[in-house]
Amino acid sequence: MIPYGRQNVDQSDCDAVLEVLRSDFLTQGPMVPRFEQALAARVSAAHAVAVNSATSALHLACLALELGPGDRLWTVPNTFVASANCARYCGAEVDFVDIDPQTYNLSTSALASKLQEAERSGSLPKVLVAVHFAGQSCDMAAVRALTRSYGIRIIEDASHAVGGRYQGSEVGGCAHSDITVFSFHPVKIITTGEGGMALTNDARLASRMRRLRSHGITRDVDEMERRGEGAWYYEQVDLGFNYRMTDLQAALGLSQYRRLDEFLARRREIARRYQELLADVPLILPFQRPDTESAFHLYVVQIDPTRTSTSRAVVFARMRKAGVGVNVHYVPVHMQPYYVRRGFRVGQYPEAEKYYSRAITVPIHPLLSSSELDHVAAALRQALD
Ligand SMILES: *Cc1c(COP(=O)(O)O)cnc(C)c1O
Repeated sequence: MIPYGRQNVDQSDCDAVLEVLRSDFLTQGPMVPRFEQALAARVSAAHAVAVNSATSALHLACLALELGPGDRLWTVPNTFVASANCARYCGAEVDFVDIDPQTYNLSTSALASKLQEAERSGSLPKVLVAVHFAGQSCDMAAVRALTRSYGIRIIEDASHAVGGRYQGSEVGGCAHSDITVFSFHPVKIITTGEGGMALTNDARLASRMRRLRSHGITRDVDEMERRGEGAWYYEQVDLGFNYRMTDLQAALGLSQYRRLDEFLARRREIARRYQELLADVPLILPFQRPDTESAFHLYVVQIDPTRTSTSRAVVFARMRKAGVGVNVHYVPVHMQPYYVRRGFRVGQYPEAEKYYSRAITVPIHPLLSSSELDHVAAALRQALD
């Protein structure tokens, strides 16, 4: 089965990890700050905090922004559940904004009207999580412009978009947000096995996240209530967690980071090739805004109901039978039983639901060979015949 995504780990990555295994520090050594500095420099963010997953990074981002009981967080239904769950960890409520039918990202017109409604009913959110679906940035300038006057804080969930660009800048620079989150899960653009990172230009947010990642403990005398009682002294000033990334993971991440441009080039080449090969197949291919450069974490096509009567379920089954590990991203989060129990219902976000009923994710990753790519395209053509 050709997987829809997979990691690309080579000898240089293995060597980097082995070197740490033989060194003095398996965790809390020099590799984590090195990895943080490399990514922060690339995306022009002032601070980076590496953690053990993007889910942890989202949780810390919400805590740093002081999201708590009585507050609301908004995100989109077309995302992985973690983009919404981070609010629930903090005791806050979740609400959703529907997606744009072209980009499958947050719809700025849906956001504008929901904000007006929320202002009238006194239910404005404290935090908005904008998800860069499939690796293409949301229209962040518009999102910021719409939310600024309400004082809404913005988290970019860029789990799909490491290496993506928006209006000439790297995703992660937080030009229109407070915090950006990356994921290094093996199916994502670069991997640390499990891992994530929060980037910000705000020193206070960075130091809060850094402290919360490690039990709420500080060794910085400026953050202490009682001054140093000696060189051994540390203080727990918050209730934090152990969300640390290990040095083994950071070494893998740093090595993968050196290969990022090679990965992005191959992903973008595969996307271009699909676009050529599938142009006359009854599919809606991914639309790209001219001011974005997607990292192409996912390649999602929609079955075009105006040109074929074949259902998504039939295409999906035929593709799996042809040895292609197709997938579907995402079951809308508001339709998950956990969120249905919290009062959401089918029919509430029609664009996300319509998209979901027609979407199919086809393989895209740097190790996908040209002959595998041709096989996927031919199988799709046949499945829709
Ligand atoms: C993968 C993913 C996450 C969670 O990432 P982990 O590193 O696995 O915790 C969050 N949001 C989105 C959109 C994702 O795709």
